[in-house]
Amino acid sequence: MIQHNSLPRVAYFCMEYALHESLPIYAGGLGVLAGDILKSAKDLELPLIGVGILWREGYTKQHIGPDNWPYDEFPAIYTSSLQDTGVQVQVQVYDRMVPVRIWKTQAFGNVALYLLNTDVPGSDFGWITRRLYGGSAHDRIAQEIVLGIGGVRALRALDLDIQIYHFNEGHAVLAGLELIREKINRGLSFEEAWRHTRDEVVFTTHTPVMAGNESHSHDLLQQLGAYNGLTYREMSTVGGDPFSMTVAGLRLARLANAVSKQHGLTARAMWQDIAERAPILSITNGVHQRTWQNEDIKKAYEEKCDLWPAHQRVKKQLLFEITKRTGKTLDPEKLLIGFARRATPYKRSNLIFSRPEIISPLLEEGHIQLVFSGKAHPQDEAGKNLVSELIRMTQTYPQSVVFLENYDLELGRLLTSGCDLWLNTPQRPLEASGTSGMKAALNGVLNLSVLDGWWPEGCLHGVNGWQFGDGYEGPDQEQRDLLSLYKTLLTEVIPTYYRDRPRWQRMMRASIEMAVCTFTAARMLKEYYNLMYLPTVSKRTGIKANTTVNVTAMMKRGVSPS
Ligand SMILES: *Cc1c(COP(=O)(O)O)cnc(C)c1O
Repeated sequence: MIQHNSLPRVAYFCMEYALHESLPIYAGGLGVLAGDILKSAKDLELPLIGVGILWREGYTKQHIGPDNWPYDEFPAIYTSSLQDTGVQVQVQVYDRMVPVRIWKTQAFGNVALYLLNTDVPGSDFGWITRRLYGGSAHDRIAQEIVLGIGGVRALRALDLDIQIYHFNEGHAVLAGLELIREKINRGLSFEEAWRHTRDEVVFTTHTPVMAGNESHSHDLLQQLGAYNGLTYREMSTVGGDPFSMTVAGLRLARLANAVSKQHGLTARAMWQDIAERAPILSITNGVHQRTWQNEDIKKAYEEKCDLWPAHQRVKKQLLFEITKRTGKTLDPEKLLIGFARRATPYKRSNLIFSRPEIISPLLEEGHIQLVFSGKAHPQDEAGKNLVSELIRMTQTYPQSVVFLENYDLELGRLLTSGCDLWLNTPQRPLEASGTSGMKAALNGVLNLSVLDGWWPEGCLHGVNGWQFGDGYEGPDQEQRDLLSLYKTLLTEVIPTYYRDRPRWQRMMRASIEMAVCTFTAARMLKEYYNLMYLPTVSKRTGIKANTTVNVTAMMKRGVSPS
């Protein structure tokens, strides 16, 4: 019998973690994924810990001005949920040694998360960990030195024994350079050190657009000290020239994963010409059930009760909050469609408004109500324009369209449990996975989505939600998606909601079942262990691959199921 303590010990590296709205060290989906992983690892008693950064200022608290424009504020992070470990390490930035303090939190039902911070009395390098995704390429590289190189040094200073280093997205890959340097210091050649490092690293890629994959010039990396003792030849062997963080991740890892089946296809095609890269598996994201599933809904679902009264209670809580925040009163008996996402062009948050002759009557005659939320990145003008556009829609349709400012975990929970329908309109294939739709599905909030990201794996059209668009990618994609969206709304969604409530309720139950069976973080972690961590370790140590069965069995027993 394999004990938990014989499973590989994993250090999970990520730039952001969304554990709770009171600790705003996250921007969006990447952080939500990382936070959910740490909570599920705790439930399942898996030997995994997190490594991240304690930002001095939270990610933008975004408010809409009287001119309809989103304005940013960066409130100081409140550290009462954090412990100072008293341990410090140093990293080199430019030619200076920078002290890094290590904090720890376990306050949110998560396994230990170690957070690095450069605000050390007497040091003038506090700027490095000031702001998540803020600043220039210089700032970003310095942050990545702290996360990656500092992260590995922190694990050593804390005396934590780690067998697998999991880099979630490219930000963490400089950790691989430290793992290589350690081995070179013990007398290995660069090639040997690189090979051994690959035997302990796995990598997750999230970005299906080439331009979204971060890369840096070698000059800048060298100037900042990111070479970490390696030469230009060695650095370009790892990351190319310019140095691509994703290519480095793929070459430093034994195994890599994309975050949905569809994203796997995209990623494998995107990186097919990269020599010596890790195979890219598809491990679809999942969400932490206890965080995202409303208690009332869970109870009604598990006790096989009528879901409708529970759903209406949750919906009314959301409507109450909408009134509190916007002064507007929506009708609990009318179809409420939700859309909350990072405001960025490919998500097409205003697609539904494209044809006023179709959408105006629906909104003005009270057939549908729309609730939006979402932040734009502080430096993203196009994203801010989208938010501004949505605000104008709330003024054009004051009775039926609302926008909630400052999208965060709390709003995410309210919206993905209290709407009737969850709309998802990304431009395929740019949504690598998407997780808000999984949260909605867990609560019986039906998805209406293009076939992108996770949805092709979950969708049974007309049974547990709806698709629109036919998966076509080409020049008139937007028009085709749009017409299909209107058609599905008018001929399927709206009639079912108002005229066939029993069917709507059957669909709610089917939606919850789909999400509970397939789209939880527990399932995802099981796949991380079975498909990435254990195969990587067994290659190194000769532990039999059938250890994997025990992980599955353990999870079936449900050490602590959600
Ligand atoms: C779930 C969540 C996200 C990610 O949702 P996507 O559907 O992947 O865009 C982003 N921000 C918050 C606050 C969330 O709760």
